[in-house]
Amino acid sequence: MKRVVLKLGRDKSLRRRHPWVFSGAVARVDGGPQPGETVEVVAADGAFLGRGAYSPRSQIRVRILSFDPAVAVDEALIASRLQHALAYRARQFPVRPDGLRLVHGEADGLPGVVVDRYGEFAVLQCTATSAERWREVIAAGLIAHGGCRGVYERSDAEVRELEGLPARCGVVRGAEPPPSIEITEGAARYRVDVRGGHKTGFYLDQRDNRARLATLAAGREVLDVFAYTGGFTCAALAGGAAGVTAIDSSHEALARARDNVAASGFAPGAVEWLEGDAFALLRELHAQGRRFDVVVLDPPKFAPTAKHVQRAARAYKDVNLWALRLLREGGTLLSFSCSAAVDPALLQSIVAGAALDAPCAGRIGAWLHAAADHPVALNFPEAAYLKGLQLERG
Ligand code: SAH
Repeated sequence: MKRVVLKLGRDKSLRRRHPWVFSGAVARVDGGPQPGETVEVVAADGAFLGRGAYSPRSQIRVRILSFDPAVAVDEALIASRLQHALAYRARQFPVRPDGLRLVHGEADGLPGVVVDRYGEFAVLQCTATSAERWREVIAAGLIAHGGCRGVYERSDAEVRELEGLPARCGVVRGAEPPPSIEITEGAARYRVDVRGGHKTGFYLDQRDNRARLATLAAGREVLDVFAYTGGFTCAALAGGAAGVTAIDSSHEALARARDNVAASGFAPGAVEWLEGDAFALLRELHAQGRRFDVVVLDPPKFAPTAKHVQRAARAYKDVNLWALRLLREGGTLLSFSCSAAVDPALLQSIVAGAALDAPCAGRIGAWLHAAADHPVALNFPEAAYLKGLQLERG
């Protein structure tokens, strides 16, 4: 049996069912396992801890697929994990959204696997050797049971480099997706580019927060910062916003955002598009005396890892400071961070620091997070990467 033996005392997190074995915890690897091959992980005294996929190039040396000594890691296990993931979504979403995450990695017992469904097409993203090994089984299951006509792979996330895996994109199984797939969310329509868009094409994780913005937007002037393809912009218009100003540095993203506003049937003149650097544009808007009733801040991941937290905190603080200064009293800020290394307490303290400098008061009306199709395993809190707060400016 190919085995990974841990150092003395390094078995605690696995016993609490955290699914990652870090390279620093490994004392010895027996049997020369290949990347992605199933290994048994044992404590220093030889006690069984779990079975998982071996990844020699990654800091995360093993991702556990089963903590049960009686459960083998094979096609049947992977197929049943997919079935469970699909059944969970069916329970959580009695009305099935057009855009839905079907598999969310560790929380669905499929480490490194993400599957998003847009209409009749699934987009598969494999970010670890554990996922790589089982991609055909997953694709077959998606066609058989996931309501998908085709499975397209978007395994081009940067994290693959950390695993020593090359980028790979293309049809895995079934039909080829069209250049854009239209999905409907409330009164908004989004055209998703599964080949060129961020992640698998769209930010499905913000679905509930878009719906929340729609309920807050009626008759108000909304500023959507880091607008990408206009997810929040369209949600604000769907909610009856008096007008939206949308900022993004990407010309291509804003072109798609315009297209989404048109596809949804909203008046094109309702949106002011500002292409450029948000850090500069927020200052300019302020200098021009512009003010808003609602500001959405959904920046890119400023802290890709824990090392970047300090620099990221300064960037988060800066955009929050100018967002607060642009808000009218009684206005609402929706402030997000998708950096796993920035936890909710840190986000709150960053925004509190920004409010001190603004200066203004604020009260948190709600904590925001990803929608239920992005579940978090109880023993794997790292998965709660998206957090946000809804703040009323005093
Ligand atoms: N709110 C979006 C997702 C935002 S993704 C949604 O819900 O769909 C982050 C966006 O920030 C990207 O579109 C990227 O082009 C943009 N961006 C990154 N750095 C920027 C900067 N300095 N100024 C303006 N936009 C920036």
